[in-house]
Amino acid sequence: MSMVCQKSAVSTQDFPGMGFTSTGRFAVLYRKLGMSMQIFDLATADLEFVAEVEARSHQNVKNCYQCGNCTAGCPYTFAYDYSVSQIMRLLQTGQKEAVLKSRSLWLCGSCQSCTTRCPNMIDVAQIMDVCRHMAREAGYATERSVKIFADSFLASVEQHGRAYELGLMASYMTRSGRVFTDVDLAPQVLMRGKLPFKPHPIQGREQVARIFERFRKGGKNA
Ligand code: SF4
Ligand code: SF4
Repeated sequence: MSMVCQKSAVSTQDFPGMGFTSTGRFAVLYRKLGMSMQIFDLATADLEFVAEVEARSHQNVKNCYQCGNCTAGCPYTFAYDYSVSQIMRLLQTGQKEAVLKSRSLWLCGSCQSCTTRCPNMIDVAQIMDVCRHMAREAGYATERSVKIFADSFLASVEQHGRAYELGLMASYMTRSGRVFTDVDLAPQVLMRGKLPFKPHPIQGREQVARIFERFRKGGKNA
């Protein structure tokens, strides 16, 4: 188990109301319990990054008081490098690199459990989404296969108006090199007609494509 702490070299007055504690005392305690601890230097805090996350998510990360409710309800905590409440703490302290390079952003399933459990009404899932977008923009995709799947899915929706499963699988396998992903399931899904060979023709395909176009133009009307 790891714990995110902060180095106390910088004045805690820079971060009012966040309850920083003596790193030294915790280091001893965690060593005794056989746990590891990662130390972040508050001098490296990037407050512009915090402001950007807050502006893009419309959330106030300072409202988090580290109760851990979000982490307790998150189904992917077991696979994360930083739990979702640790991500919130890293955000509060402006640890841009640690947040944007975290695997957790890419493993998050956007289930909204953290958001519904937060007693401070913080839309934590929205913050995870925003950080994932920012990680992508910064060129960090710590979980490459997740990014490739997301890209393949979105390309399929743009082209067909909805996901075309067979094309999506082919695109993902080709781009990721994971050619045997789930092939054992193929006979069952084919027999049940869940994997049509042709894309479904749907109405409004052009409108869906225009949403993508508008997004590329920065959200302005095409
Ligand atoms: S939205 Fe993401 S971080 Fe939040 S509980 Fe679900 S998987 Fe965990
Ligand atoms: S549930 Fe809300 S207040 Fe509690 S740790 Fe998570 S984000 Fe912070």
